[in-house]
Amino acid sequence: MLSNTGIAELLARQAEREAGVLSRAFRRAARSAFLWPENVTDLAAQNRPLTELRGIGPFIERQIRRWLDKPPRIRKSIPAIRQDFISLAEARQLLAMRHSWSKNLRGDLQMHTRWSDGSGTVAQMADAARERSYEYIAITDHSKGLKVAGGIDEHALRKQGTEIAKLNALISQSGGNLTLLRSIEMNLSPRGEGDMSPKSLLGLDLVLGSFHSSLRRVEDQTDRYLAALRNPNIQILAHPRGRIYNYRLGLIADWSRVLAEATRLDKALEIDCYPDRQDLNLHLLKLAREHGTRISLGTDAHHPWQLEFIELGLAATIQAKIPAERIVNFMPVPELKRWIQRVRRNQ
Ligand SMILES: [Zn+2]
Repeated sequence: MLSNTGIAELLARQAEREAGVLSRAFRRAARSAFLWPENVTDLAAQNRPLTELRGIGPFIERQIRRWLDKPPRIRKSIPAIRQDFISLAEARQLLAMRHSWSKNLRGDLQMHTRWSDGSGTVAQMADAARERSYEYIAITDHSKGLKVAGGIDEHALRKQGTEIAKLNALISQSGGNLTLLRSIEMNLSPRGEGDMSPKSLLGLDLVLGSFHSSLRRVEDQTDRYLAALRNPNIQILAHPRGRIYNYRLGLIADWSRVLAEATRLDKALEIDCYPDRQDLNLHLLKLAREHGTRISLGTDAHHPWQLEFIELGLAATIQAKIPAERIVNFMPVPELKRWIQRVRRNQ
């Protein structure tokens, strides 16, 4: 039987055989498959049109139905650039089987707002978080070095802080128990250096660091990761590999050394839950479990509805058997803040 990830692979291969508009449509449909909320096989069994699903028009529907009627053999060798991605349908099945696991989740630790390249305001992200009954979210807009994403400087970061403080006050006045954490996704140079004044970062509740440049290097990047982890201003390394589904493989490193260093420094590596990132991936999550490394979950949402991406990361932690006490987002706010304080003090 064809799973949604199997169909995604067939769509991606079809895109490689087609050209122009058609190729792009198949490529887009392949990416969309990771967000379809239900299994295509279930829809087909219920005689529902597949065009209910994002990215599927009548033409692609006919192609998928041909595959369903006569499933092509998907060779074991899915190319590395498309390997080890979970679909939302699959994630939801996993989470339904371990219902108690989702109850541990208290918040989301990566998202963007209109302050940088997100489409929602901080208040809209807060509303979306309250709908999910979260206890906290971290507002992590891009920092000034990432100009293409509208990164913010120290002045804007301070102004955003004032807005967040006001919103926190409003939320608690109205009896809500959501806390907006002041944070940033600080851009790191390939040498692991940040682009914000360390003083401005001390005013934040937590700091993510991530690489957005030189992501296609093919030589070993272990030193870059060790330098990033040793950067005294960050506590969480976001989307560590820098991979993107069907677009970029991500960096290569001696991950055992990287994870051992993260554990020694008590810092976290992130699962960026964005569907075409899913970074860390399952393979590295299993290694992280062996090293006892802390794991942080962030959707990298750029629109309020995208907070649902968290399910992909949560499912991955189940698959990798990450112990609950190693997942940063399972901590209540006071414990989370104590951890950050401890990491900052130990620099
Ligand atoms: Zn990023």
